[in-house]
Amino acid sequence: MSKLYLVPTPIGNLRDITYRAVEILGSVDLILAEDTRQASKLLNHYRITTPVRSHHKFNEHQSVDAICSRILSGTDVALISDAGTPGISDPGFLLVRACVTRNIEVETLPGPSAFLPALVNSGLPCDKFCFEGFLPPKKGRTKRLAFLASEERTMIFYESPYKLLRTLDDLSSAFGPDRKACVSRELTKIYEENIRGTLDEVSRHYKAHAPKGEIVIIVAGKEN
Ligand code: SAM
Repeated sequence: MSKLYLVPTPIGNLRDITYRAVEILGSVDLILAEDTRQASKLLNHYRITTPVRSHHKFNEHQSVDAICSRILSGTDVALISDAGTPGISDPGFLLVRACVTRNIEVETLPGPSAFLPALVNSGLPCDKFCFEGFLPPKKGRTKRLAFLASEERTMIFYESPYKLLRTLDDLSSAFGPDRKACVSRELTKIYEENIRGTLDEVSRHYKAHAPKGEIVIIVAGKEN
């Protein structure tokens, strides 16, 4: 029976992909990619010639029904995003939900995602954690931060370099400047950097060194 595969792809270092991920990308009938040009860098590197079609947040609402019909009629489909695991702050959820509703088999391969190495590398407790992804940029931001002020688990946030300083200041106001944190930047890439300290210390570091690249912020939970 045909199925949908969710295939994690590298978050920077092209070698961070499993043998099985490469095999599946080479053997399915169709790859759905968030950005076909980005996908072609990976697919060319591994000499994968499977046809690729675009599937991103602007067309996924319209295309899930057609994709499900194709899988039901015998097409094996793999979904990839620009980096990491599809569905994690990336398109994927809508398609998985549509497949589950129609009893289409879904198989998600284990593989890269930015939040796990950042969490484990932070030195903050990783026995219990919560993934917050990107904070709301405007509406709901203050409310979410107020809600998280009593969170006891280690928290994980995704952020862009342009908004890092503002977010560190907001986290500091909500949780206090002495809360422990770690900012992981450019994981798996040449300029990988992990800055650990209090929110105040980490913020002062990035005020002195303008951040560039991709960023995960890990913040300790409230001590009980
Ligand atoms: N699906 C991806 C995953 O599984 O991690 C996340 C996609 S989300 C659109 C992109 C965000 O992930 C970036 O803004 C950054 O916060 C984080 N990210 C992705 N690659 C990263 C890297 N190499 N180093 C640090 N953060 C990264």
